[in-house]
Amino acid sequence: MASEDLFKKIIAHAKEYGFIFPSSEIYDGLGAVYDYGQNGVELKNNIKNYWWSAMVKLNEEIVGLDSAIFMHPTVWKASGHVNAFNDPLIDNKDSKKRYRADVLIEDHRAKIQAKIDKEVEKAKAKFGDTFDEAQFLATNQRVLENQAKIDALNKRFVSALETDNLEELKQIIIDCEIVCPISGSKNWTDVRQFNLMFDTKIGSLSDDANVIYLRPETAQGIFVNYLNVQKTGRMKIPFGIAQIGKAFRNEIVARQFIFRMREFEQMEMQYFVKPGDEMHWYEKWKATRMKWHKALGLGENKYRFHNHDKLAHYANAAADVEFEFPFGFKELEGIHSRTDFDLKNHQEFSGKKLQYFDNEANESYVPYVVETSIGLDRMFLAVLSSAYFEETLTKEDGTTDQRVVLRIPPQLAPVKVAVLPLMKKDGLPEMAREIMKELQFDFNCQYEEKDTIGRRYRRHDAIGTPFCITIDHQSLEDKTVTIRYRDTMEQERVEIKKLPEIIDGLVSFKNLLKKL
Ligand code: ATP
Repeated sequence: MASEDLFKKIIAHAKEYGFIFPSSEIYDGLGAVYDYGQNGVELKNNIKNYWWSAMVKLNEEIVGLDSAIFMHPTVWKASGHVNAFNDPLIDNKDSKKRYRADVLIEDHRAKIQAKIDKEVEKAKAKFGDTFDEAQFLATNQRVLENQAKIDALNKRFVSALETDNLEELKQIIIDCEIVCPISGSKNWTDVRQFNLMFDTKIGSLSDDANVIYLRPETAQGIFVNYLNVQKTGRMKIPFGIAQIGKAFRNEIVARQFIFRMREFEQMEMQYFVKPGDEMHWYEKWKATRMKWHKALGLGENKYRFHNHDKLAHYANAAADVEFEFPFGFKELEGIHSRTDFDLKNHQEFSGKKLQYFDNEANESYVPYVVETSIGLDRMFLAVLSSAYFEETLTKEDGTTDQRVVLRIPPQLAPVKVAVLPLMKKDGLPEMAREIMKELQFDFNCQYEEKDTIGRRYRRHDAIGTPFCITIDHQSLEDKTVTIRYRDTMEQERVEIKKLPEIIDGLVSFKNLLKKL
């Protein structure tokens, strides 16, 4: 299936099955804002739980925080966001569509890279086991030409970004003959800077002094509280503070469903370290976070690191964990070595000392910070898009049937168990209710008695329920039920009393967290 079609199907499926709705849909929606439905909120909570447990529960030196969305406006001057939290935008005069200039160039570069990848694939298929990829990349004429194009483009691009040279960004777009995907024309405006922060007013007066911002990242709430936490929690460096919360950005281009939203959620952890130790911790957190991702089993090859071309105004090293979404490899999480940029600036702007006294070294210093920052909604999309499968099943009589199944990791699945009486009579519903009553203390269960059993299975496949339990007449006699497994569709007869153990084996976070 073409990846564009797949993406459309996933979006439609997310709506049809109560995962994600466009915000204010009855008023035709609001750009890049979404609501999570009854299944979406469960999946989202489970992702949060996995992250929070891995950070706060499993690390003695990491604690949580929940800071406010509104902050003193000077916070955003100190952090650099008022002056530097900009994206370069460009409009196509024919389609009137707005783009991020840097994204247009990156997409162009990805197209050249795709040509190289295609050559490699072709050669691999041709030469089989004897294929030497490194040698091919170093000698094939077409690959070399394309690689030279990428290198030349990178050089100009990085330098333009580093010097905020907007004319040069436009020139690159012209020289690369980049066209608007909608109008197909090269009729571009100049590139302008656009600040991504939303502002609003606090209090009843409406002069400028009362302008405040909706936070564009959760991190600053951690920075301004770091000494509160350190002192009250008697934390010793290195230590971390973790937070999950909403962030807001007035994104220029917002066409990729929940990948790029104007209101979204971040899961961030700031790790405070001794100056000089930051590279050690940066590497450590890169590895730790990759392990967290891979433990979920969404696919080993779906992840890669991408080192930043242009470092943000606060960083001395930065990498993204990229995930293969239906529209290609894109940033899922950022790992940044932020130096002492934020704390030093807050110290300067607030006039308050933000130093830590290191007992062992007997000295005071402003700590350095390594952060891990993942978008909860992007993680949701990663899970959802890698879980979506359309399958053709051959039935016993030789006819075929279709099913859509979400192979969501069982620990994250919105509903863990469907409890299904085979018929609506003979005491089967009553027995099913009893089983449900027992299981629902530990697992999110759903009771369903309407429709044929096959249709009920399909509905639960479509929301990713790992287990369906069917109660039939035999259950009344010998206290057994059939349990059906989502992925294999295998069914087995088990004793009711064994259910908690079987279910727990697959859905418990403990087994997942033990892999970390
Ligand atoms: P991008 O380059 O895609 O705009 P970014 O580099 O600006 O992202 P960060 O500032 O590093 O992103 O934010 C950390 C994480 O927050 C990102 O890795 C991403 O998962 C998430 N995130 C950022 N912007 C958005 C958004 N508009 N919608 C959803 N998630 C977002």
